[in-house]
Amino acid sequence: MIPVPGFEGRKVAVLGLARSGRAAVAALDAGGAEVLAWDDSEKTRSGIAAELPLVDLAKADWREVAALMLSPGIPHSFPRPHPAVVAARAAGIPIIGDIELLGRAQPAARYIGITGTNGKSTTTALIGHILASAGETVEVGGNLGPPALGLKPLDAGGTYVLEMSSFQLELVETLAFDIAVLLNITPDHLDRHGDMAGYVAAKKRIFARQGDDATAVVGVDDAICREIAAELCRDGHRRVVPVSVKEVVRDGVYVEDGWLVDAMEGSPERVFDLRQAPLLPGGHNAQNAAAAYAVARRAGLAPEMVAARIRTFPGLMHRQELVDTIDGVRYINDSKATNADATEKALACYEAIYWIAGGLPKAGGITSLAPYFKRLRHAFLIGNAMEEFATTLDGTVSYTRCGDLASAVAAASDRARGEHVPDAVVLLSPACASYDQFPNFEVRGDTFRRLVGTLPGAHAQ
Ligand code: ADP
Repeated sequence: MIPVPGFEGRKVAVLGLARSGRAAVAALDAGGAEVLAWDDSEKTRSGIAAELPLVDLAKADWREVAALMLSPGIPHSFPRPHPAVVAARAAGIPIIGDIELLGRAQPAARYIGITGTNGKSTTTALIGHILASAGETVEVGGNLGPPALGLKPLDAGGTYVLEMSSFQLELVETLAFDIAVLLNITPDHLDRHGDMAGYVAAKKRIFARQGDDATAVVGVDDAICREIAAELCRDGHRRVVPVSVKEVVRDGVYVEDGWLVDAMEGSPERVFDLRQAPLLPGGHNAQNAAAAYAVARRAGLAPEMVAARIRTFPGLMHRQELVDTIDGVRYINDSKATNADATEKALACYEAIYWIAGGLPKAGGITSLAPYFKRLRHAFLIGNAMEEFATTLDGTVSYTRCGDLASAVAAASDRARGEHVPDAVVLLSPACASYDQFPNFEVRGDTFRRLVGTLPGAHAQ
C-alpha cells in the first residue's frame, strides 16, 4: 500500500468503494488525510469495515473538502454526472482518480501507461513480463490486476506499468507518462463519453503533459490513431514511435511476413519471427507484441533480450489461454471474448474448431462471424443465446443445443476425440456476456478450465 501525502489533516472525499476506492481510502488515511468515504450501493457499504467513516456525499459540506477521488466506474459527465460530482464541481474542488494520487505519492518512479480500445491488458501484462524478467523493478496494475494504490512503493529505479481505461485517463491531472501507448481506437463506451469525439479525447490524454524525453507509442492501423500520431509528430515534443501490423512504418516497429521488424533507429532490422510466440496468436496480438517491443526498447533493453522475453510470455488467463492438450486436441479458454468482435480474433487463429458459444447475447449476435463459419467443425451452444445462434448457424454449420457449459465441454470433447482432425481445437469463445449463467467471465473461464481438467485421455498439462 502507498500512503498518499499532501492532504495531511484535510478532508478528501472518496466516492465508489470497490477495490480501487477501498485501496484509496487506506492510502489517503495512511497519508494523514481525513477520508469521507461513500458508495451508493447499500450492499457495498454494508460489506465495508465498521471503522471506515461513511459519509453520504450527497449531503456533504463541500466547502471543507480538498479533493474528490472518484472511482472510474462513476460518471462525471455522461450520461449525467453523479450528484456528488456536480456539487464538487460547483465548489471548485478537483476531481481526481487513484492513478493521479499514485503519481503524486511516487513522483520519482518511471511511468508507462497503456490504453486503446482492445489489447490493453495483454500489452500491459506483456510489458510487465518483459521488464520484470530482464531484472527491472516493476509494478503492474491499474485497470488490470491490483488497484494502483495497492501496489508497492517504488523509488527512482522502479517502473509502474499501468493499464489505463479512458475513464481513468479522464481523472489524471498532473501525472505525465514517460512512455505512453495507444494501441487502437474503435467505437466503445460512447454512453459514458457522449460521442466518439469525447472517447477519442479521453484516449489522447495518455499523451498529456509529456516532455521532450518522453515516448509515445501509437498503433497506426486505424484512421483515428494514425491522425493522432501525425498530430503528436507535428506537436514536436516527445519521441513518437508508430507501430503497424499492416504496413511498413518509418522510425517505428512493424510486422512483415510474420516477422517483427525494428526500424526505430532508421534502417529496418528483422528481429524475430512472431510465430515463435505461440501464446500470442493472431494479428491482434502481433500489434500488442510490436507495441510492447517498442516500449521495452525505449526503456533501454536490447532487441534480442526483448524478443526472448516475448517468446516466454505465458499469456493472460481467459484470452485464448491454452488450458490443456488432450489426445492431441487443444482446449482454449477465450472467455474474455464477450462480443462477436473479440470472438472473431480467436476464430481467425484456428482452422478446425469445435466451438463453444453462447451466454447473454449482444446486439447483432454472431452474424458478423459468417466468414469464419467454414472453420467450424461443429458448434456447441449454451445460455440465453442458444436459439438465436442456432438460427444464425442453420444450414451452414452443424450444431448441438447443449444448454450449459458442462454439457458443451463433454459433447465437444467427445466429438473432437472421435473425428481425429489435425490441429483440432475445442474453443470456448462465447461472443456473449456471461451473466445469464456465471457471475463474470473469469468464473466462466475457470469453470471451463476445471471441466477440461476432468476429461478422460492423455493430458499434456
Ligand atoms: P482489453 O484489456 O483492452 O479489453 P485484452 O488484452 O484483455 O484487451 O483483450 C481482450 C480481447 O480483445 C481479446 O480476447 C482479443 O479478442 C481482443 N484483442 C486483444 N488485443 C487486440 C488488439 N490489439 N486489437 C484488436 N483486438 C484485440
